[in-house]
Amino acid sequence: MHPLAQLDHAHVWHPFTQMRDWLRQDPIVIVRGKGTTLEDANGQVYLDANSSIWTNLHGHQHPAINRAIRAQLGKIAHSSALGLANEPASRLAGRLVEAAQPPAGWRNPNHPRLTKVFYSDDGSTALEVSVKLAYEFVRRSREKTTAPRFLSIQGAYHGDTIGAVSLGHIDVFHRAYAGLLFKTDEVPSPYCYRCPYNRAKPERADARTYRKCEWECVGKVEQAFEKAAKQGKPYTALTFEPGIQGAAGMVPQPDGWLGKVARIARGHRALLIADEVLTGFGRTGSSETSPSLWACHHEQVQPDFLNVAKGLTGGYLPMAATLTTDEVFDAFLGEYEELKTFFHGHSYTGNQLGAAAALASLDLLERPANVKKRRQLEHHLRGALESLWSSPHVGDIRQVGLIVGVELVEDWRSRKSFDFREKAGIRVVDGMARRGVLTRHIGNTIVLMPPYCTTPSQLDQMVATLSESIQEALPGTTRGI
Ligand code: PMP
Repeated sequence: MHPLAQLDHAHVWHPFTQMRDWLRQDPIVIVRGKGTTLEDANGQVYLDANSSIWTNLHGHQHPAINRAIRAQLGKIAHSSALGLANEPASRLAGRLVEAAQPPAGWRNPNHPRLTKVFYSDDGSTALEVSVKLAYEFVRRSREKTTAPRFLSIQGAYHGDTIGAVSLGHIDVFHRAYAGLLFKTDEVPSPYCYRCPYNRAKPERADARTYRKCEWECVGKVEQAFEKAAKQGKPYTALTFEPGIQGAAGMVPQPDGWLGKVARIARGHRALLIADEVLTGFGRTGSSETSPSLWACHHEQVQPDFLNVAKGLTGGYLPMAATLTTDEVFDAFLGEYEELKTFFHGHSYTGNQLGAAAALASLDLLERPANVKKRRQLEHHLRGALESLWSSPHVGDIRQVGLIVGVELVEDWRSRKSFDFREKAGIRVVDGMARRGVLTRHIGNTIVLMPPYCTTPSQLDQMVATLSESIQEALPGTTRGI
């Protein structure tokens, strides 16, 4: 075993990992990356088909981001945001506020204006900030609201800190810590492929495109808000991942869902907390009619809290931001002795290296040639994925922009899931790694999330490798359909 792997085995405890399984295998030790590729300590090169857990946008060692970090390093790496402002964090706040303005021409021009930026370190901390701000904002600004209530979506994942876990609804992550969490309610996820209200028989297409329903899931949201209002305890906020729920298993929303749900929430004066930790920075695609970097804008929804992390620095450094309105900000203004201050913050808040990387990443994102390239890549990926339908173990292929979830089933006709003990997803991604493509599974769903610098032939290689690995790992695949 490589000495670095030995050290890892001796001392490193990995996230979301059964360490007994980990210690049985020789780990892949990454020593460098370039573009879409990662190289391990033995010189083996892989494609990073998961964008290094959904963070990397433009590829590894992008010259422009490297340059920006080096230039910043020549000035200063970090100074405290407690009591001090700094150059790149100020500039970045301005750029984020600008990028978060809704595009012109929306049906309803009355939407919140996101003008303030609170920095933190990662997706979880960004959501913590939103929860605390929303909680205190309504207690201060709305009469009779003493116990704010939060609503979120079934299967939601908003991070691993206690507040963020409380907003989430993934049973295996939450059960053990139930005693530590505050109570939140859930409404159904629009998971068309496994929706109890979808009367359509399985087809060889994304389940959203052939669903037969009457938007019962939206009706449930309406009922939840009405019930809370009748009880005299209306919901304070609705938290959601716009466009697609990531850790829930790459569950995409059918067109129109978010707009409808947001209208209901607004009708009940609930704040909207958008978690764009995964979906932000163009990951869910853009079109001529909706060129925005944010998934919620594709449904003409402007939240009161916009949370970004992962791709903020292009996948280089841990940094996050919560954007909010003057209205929320003003609720925390007061004389010193009134103690209205937002008592919250982290040592690395507004870190200069992270902000410099983020500014360079935004420049790259907004370059017209890159916008065009992302659209072409998205289109190419859509075509490449078609080949996977020939496997009877592919139940649903869900693509939103450059995010893909391929749900594996025992047989597509029955939609029957593999028992989790069969480790179907794990076996497939292990097979992909052996073939030089690194990605992750969520249960029985395989994720493909290529960085934006991926070439069409690298995309083809990712999809072909997935196909071969399904055939290898899941018996009966060669039967055809
Ligand atoms: N929200 C969403 C939608 C996420 O996907 C994640 C991480 N996968 C988080 C929040 C938490 O982010 P982090 O891991 O950076 O704390």
